[in-house]
Amino acid sequence: MFRDLHNLVRGLGQRLLPAPAFAPLEENEWAGLRASVPFIDRLPQPESEALRERIGEFLGRKTFKGIRMRLDPWQRHVIAAYACLPILRIGIDAYRDWQTVIVYPDTFAPEQEWVDEAGVHHQAVVPQAGEAWERGPVVLSWNDVAEDGAVIVHEVTHTLDAGNGDVNGFPPLPRSLSADEWTDTFSAAYDQLQDEIDRGDEPVIDPYAATDPAEFLAVVAEYFFFSPAYLQAEWPAIYRLLALYFSLEPHGWADEIPTRIPWVED
Ligand SMILES: [Zn+2]
Repeated sequence: MFRDLHNLVRGLGQRLLPAPAFAPLEENEWAGLRASVPFIDRLPQPESEALRERIGEFLGRKTFKGIRMRLDPWQRHVIAAYACLPILRIGIDAYRDWQTVIVYPDTFAPEQEWVDEAGVHHQAVVPQAGEAWERGPVVLSWNDVAEDGAVIVHEVTHTLDAGNGDVNGFPPLPRSLSADEWTDTFSAAYDQLQDEIDRGDEPVIDPYAATDPAEFLAVVAEYFFFSPAYLQAEWPAIYRLLALYFSLEPHGWADEIPTRIPWVED
């Protein structure tokens, strides 16, 4: 009840108040970003312009916190660029439920608790390259991000997944997409991956995707954006659903896009 009321009030507010305007990146900032983030120059002109706009919105709405490090503007821009790729067409409002990006210099090790299938309770410190919570923050390790910017796409995909409550591989879908088709197609691909791993075959994608359906979605999103030709060839049905979901066609940009961010230090 209160949750519905809250949503109603928020919905009214969104209709009544004009969206705040945010300054796009300056020319020199945009040039610096294009030199660092390989996917940007693969984008067609309309997508490139939309990305620059999204990055401005992202930087205006989100708060960055460096833990044991100072984040310079270029680092914020790089993170924003990757974070805005999945919402290039969906729009920045899809990230309205979270505010903060926390960045550690290197892999961080939060204490985690979980219960396994036998009902046994575990507690351990598990090193992470990235982490996302339903209502934020998104937590990143800068060294891991610099090694592979796809880590950012992975984590923000979890926050999109959370948009309808659970992080379960089933994000809020646009009307053009059938919920049944999404569930059937993703379940079949997930089962196929599990079977490949059980049989000891070479899995189609990173076996981490077999952890659970939420990880599956985050991992296929990485392939979708950065190895689109491979995903389209191996799992055309998944590629097609993601293309409809993100309203983007990365296979037209390049077969494969590097995600290593050139870093000033060796
Ligand atoms: Zn994940």
